[in-house]
Amino acid sequence: MLALLLCLQAADEFRVDGPPFLPFGESAEFAAFAIPEGATLTWRLADAPGGIASAVRTSPAFSEQDFCIRGARTIRVTSLGTTEGDLRVSVALERRGARIGARNLTVRIGPVLRLEGRFRTVEHPRGGARGAAEAWTELVPEVNRIWKACGIEFAFSAGEAVKGRDSWFDGRGRFHPVIFRRGVRERSPAVNELLALHGPGRIDVFLVRECFMVRESRGLGDPVVEYNLAGWGIQEEGAAVDEDALAVDLAHELGHVLGLDDLGLNAWTPQDMIPAERRRLMCHIRKFREAPGFAVDEMKETREVARRILKVRSSNRK
Ligand SMILES: [Zn+2]
Repeated sequence: MLALLLCLQAADEFRVDGPPFLPFGESAEFAAFAIPEGATLTWRLADAPGGIASAVRTSPAFSEQDFCIRGARTIRVTSLGTTEGDLRVSVALERRGARIGARNLTVRIGPVLRLEGRFRTVEHPRGGARGAAEAWTELVPEVNRIWKACGIEFAFSAGEAVKGRDSWFDGRGRFHPVIFRRGVRERSPAVNELLALHGPGRIDVFLVRECFMVRESRGLGDPVVEYNLAGWGIQEEGAAVDEDALAVDLAHELGHVLGLDDLGLNAWTPQDMIPAERRRLMCHIRKFREAPGFAVDEMKETREVARRILKVRSSNRK
């Protein structure tokens, strides 16, 4: 019985959700979940770039004496300043005067970084994409809605098509971005040749008919495993994406382009995953994912990579 209670607690742990990034001049909502009966919540604004009062406004409003918001389960924060930095909030849970839980929230306030990219169809009779690159631009608003949580926006247009080589596709027209050599996963020659065509300082998304991966047997009794992939993103270069991919898959591959790794690679059921990782975009299997969110570290990493891409772009323009 005790074990069961502990499990229930772990699944329903006190937490505070919200985006790790707030663009200058915009608002975002933060909400606390799994608050025990009779407990009260205090949000304390501990720090903000350039000073709390000039950096943010909240709803409900924070007390000007101690920068606290008491009782609210959800708060709305609006950015007022133009200094980039981190807003720090500590959220305490109290019952009968005793602290029973606490969470710290870090939210970067700053400018939105805008990255340019192109959708480029790969033409090939066996494995080329069948749709037009223009149709893919319709996925971009949804991709940007997801990436707003990191303050990154993608401006994608339809770019010139690429002539696919026969060697890029197997007999059934499938594109294999990864191969296994003696059990070790590595980039395939096909994906290296394709991604070599990307433009510097710009993200190219190459569309193929079918992205596929075959993991060889690691020994007697270990089966060959075949996967349909939504795509394969490579840091600071671009991605090969299956023409059936959804906006959230494209958003996920762009996460790889911006330096993030998959989460839960060894989990083959949703229960194998850490609950918080199931609320992240980089959760490796779409159907395990509850929400396409980001952790603070992921926001920091992707913004650093985005700034490197923008730097390459501006030095190429000179
Ligand atoms: Zn992935």
